[in-house]
Amino acid sequence: MKKSLYSLALAAIATTTVILLSCAAPSEAPPSAGFQSSAVKITKALIPEGRFGRNGTRDMRPRYITIHSTQNFGNGADARTHARLLQRGGLTSRNNSLGYLTWHFTVDAGSVYQSLPTNEQGQHADYEGNGNQQSVGIEMCEHRGNSRSATVDRTARLTAELMRRYNIPASRVVPHQHWQRIRFSDGKDLGHKNCPHFLMTNGQPGAKWQAFIELVESYL
Ligand SMILES: [Zn+2]
Repeated sequence: MKKSLYSLALAAIATTTVILLSCAAPSEAPPSAGFQSSAVKITKALIPEGRFGRNGTRDMRPRYITIHSTQNFGNGADARTHARLLQRGGLTSRNNSLGYLTWHFTVDAGSVYQSLPTNEQGQHADYEGNGNQQSVGIEMCEHRGNSRSATVDRTARLTAELMRRYNIPASRVVPHQHWQRIRFSDGKDLGHKNCPHFLMTNGQPGAKWQAFIELVESYL
């Protein structure tokens, strides 16, 4: 998927959401089974079962946690906006067999939204590879005005909670960059993505990533 299309789609939905919010109170997401955290408040906004990115649900036992950042810098591209976009099938992809991009949690400075149950595979890391088959995907927001440090801190708390729940060691908390992306349609190697870019050093995990892991461990 081209990043430009992704950004455009998000920008469009962000604008729509802002307008809707100005004239109608947001409806609460219906209660549903899923991950409950005592350390981090999570708003459930699951993709409808059997539709869009949850069409042909694939079971998962989480063995890894994969950390991303949205690279969407537009106004209003917060966690809620991303969750609403996933709920209506707003992010399509030709690079995987599902046809949509999905992930489990979106985090910003003030909230966490859940889009997928943690026992279902997402499509956020490496198409048909282990990154999607075995990892919980967390996206950190980067929209204008959002505090990066608060977002990283909230992400670290959520990550620690998931590690406890699924007995995942720090060695299996990985950046998206960890996974080699082999495109579904033609088997082309698309390499390793520089994501989350602000925690990478020259496109690789370095001191900034290590500091993030240490922050996560401080919450264990
Ligand atoms: Zn990523």
